[in-house]
Amino acid sequence: MAELKSICVYCGSNAGTDSEYRDAAEKLGRAMAAADIRLVYGGGAVGLMGIIARTVMANGGKVTGIIPQFLKDREVMLREVTELQVTADMHERKRSMFEQSDAFVALPGGIGTLEEVVEMMTWAQLDQHKKPILIANINGFWDTLIALFQRMTDDGFLHKAFLGNHVDLPVHFCDTVEAIVPTLKKAVAGVPRPALEAAPPAGV
Ligand code: AMP
Repeated sequence: MAELKSICVYCGSNAGTDSEYRDAAEKLGRAMAAADIRLVYGGGAVGLMGIIARTVMANGGKVTGIIPQFLKDREVMLREVTELQVTADMHERKRSMFEQSDAFVALPGGIGTLEEVVEMMTWAQLDQHKKPILIANINGFWDTLIALFQRMTDDGFLHKAFLGNHVDLPVHFCDTVEAIVPTLKKAVAGVPRPALEAAPPAGV
């Protein structure tokens, strides 16, 4: 049975207008530090990204920041992380974030967050990995995306089973931060460790 050792968190490089989003990033950061789960993230110092990384560090947890050179050059990088990896470009960064994580969470964010989590869903759909993906629907933020997934399912573009919230399926949804770590622990326990360590899809 595999153990949940790291979570890649995708979230806004802005903090959003509602304080609930900042609270969610802090709460998840505290929960990860308490459970000794390493945060893997985009390495930024700004927005919800900076909030969750600083919270994990402040609570004695471990953080791996993976940032492309051009963003590092723009001085938006958080320097006080446990480990900082600089990649040549965005593609290498996403691959590296994938390889170093046991599971993926999308907190509220913008198009960067959306693109990153949907890419992990695409690879799962193509059977290229078995790492669980969780959409954290804080304050109903992802309601319209979930409605779109439902429409895709109803209209025959997305397999019904994909959005089942079933422990054996890759995509999970929850409304509270408290549910994130327990849901992912349960989901990862069903995945053999070699499958979690499998190489990412060729050519990505
Ligand atoms: P967004 O949701 O559009 O704010 O983009 C956030 C996502 O894109 C993060 O998960 C990061 O991987 C990446 N990203 C966007 N802006 C930055 C930044 N300033 N520093 C580091 N990563 C960023």
